[in-house]
Amino acid sequence: MPHYDRIIHGGRVLDPANDLDATMDVGISHGRIAAVEPELAPSDTNDWVDVSGQWVLPGFIDSHVHVAVSGEAGDRAIGYRQMAEAGVTTAIDFGGTMPGIIDGVRRRGAGLNIGGLYVLYPDVTVPGDDPGTDQLQDILHQALGQGSLGFKCMGGHSPLTPDATARAIEVCNQSTAYVALHCGTKATSSHLAGLREVPELVGNGRLHVAHVNAYCRGMVLDPMDECREAIDLLSRMGDQLVSEVHLAKPNGTSGHCEGDEVADRVTRNCLLMRGYPLTRTGLRQAMEEGYASVVAERGGRAVLLEGDDAVAEWEAAGTNAPVSFPVGLTDIAFNLSVARDQSGGFVVDAVATDGGYFPRNIAVPRTWAMVALGAITPLEMATKLSWNPSRMFGLLDKGHLSPGANADITVVDPTTGNPRMSLVAGEFAMLEGRSVATGGTLLVTPEGETAARNSGLGYQLVDLEQSKLYAGWR
Ligand SMILES: [Zn+2]
Repeated sequence: MPHYDRIIHGGRVLDPANDLDATMDVGISHGRIAAVEPELAPSDTNDWVDVSGQWVLPGFIDSHVHVAVSGEAGDRAIGYRQMAEAGVTTAIDFGGTMPGIIDGVRRRGAGLNIGGLYVLYPDVTVPGDDPGTDQLQDILHQALGQGSLGFKCMGGHSPLTPDATARAIEVCNQSTAYVALHCGTKATSSHLAGLREVPELVGNGRLHVAHVNAYCRGMVLDPMDECREAIDLLSRMGDQLVSEVHLAKPNGTSGHCEGDEVADRVTRNCLLMRGYPLTRTGLRQAMEEGYASVVAERGGRAVLLEGDDAVAEWEAAGTNAPVSFPVGLTDIAFNLSVARDQSGGFVVDAVATDGGYFPRNIAVPRTWAMVALGAITPLEMATKLSWNPSRMFGLLDKGHLSPGANADITVVDPTTGNPRMSLVAGEFAMLEGRSVATGGTLLVTPEGETAARNSGLGYQLVDLEQSKLYAGWR
């Protein structure tokens, strides 16, 4: 009788939680890690997978993606396949509501574990821009009941008042619900000023600061000075904040116009940076001149359209199409990724993509590039991509390969940094760059268990009390 459903043989296993960097065989049984040994017997399984020479990491947990979104043109659920092809095994959607996420996973899921944050969009998912504590508590209660892990404030794109932003954080903290902020309120914007507001908004509470690199694009100071200030702020706030960066040049935002005005604050910032008018005409001009791209599906993949193609797509969508600008400063993102505090720990917890539907799911090869440069070790690559994000969200059975852990694995080609294979709960989600699974597993709090069960999808319960966000809380 074989002992293992599958053995992943001969890879270089990188498991920072167990301080393990060695050539090992990984035995999998019933979706969990059963053994990690220098040598397991081929006769102990009917499925011997040879990954000699490859790197075997605990599955990549993308701690910030966007697949679900309400109101825009196109079916963004192709993002699941794109994530699987990028080596993702678990992702947290920072832009949707659970009914939308469940619908997308059912139709076009790629076998991944998916958690979601309820997005706070003034006048769309929350009434007005200054909701009170009672209103926010009601919305949170309902969101958790639908399976969300907590709130994401879209401040930088579409802000609440500073007071309402602080209330949203406090309401989540009181319920030990997850809470993430794209910095910026009515009083500031999606740049360093928004980040500077964080200490006051958080008070004594806890917060996930989304994509720290997005506040260091040189809109207030020189980008390097903004980067230094961001590192200083995050270090000073210590356990109160968790954070990630993404390493892509293209950003992701909205081309929506209200009347003649470009509505989204991030889009407005991007136009401002190059001196374009903040109008429909200004955005069209930015497209025609190759600065703004439009994200659209072509042949089952999201691509960036440019020039006349971009304009046509955007106009056909009544302007409500996702757009992208090449504003990410990859040197700054690199500096943030490798920054360490006095004890040698990382200042920014994780590398994410802020991708999903947006075609910039490049965290694995870009983090590998930092290893190739000698800026981080191979074990630290696994820390950034898997161990730290698993702790951020309290995913205790993920992020490591200890016996009993979920058999979520990402296999990386160490000559290119590209992911070649992934497994979720011991089953293949990706092989040779191709997404091979459907459906998915929802990550929900106990309040969302009924909704998860009714979805017909598999689910896992998340205990946010155990998350790094709430470590030592109260
Ligand atoms: Zn985002």
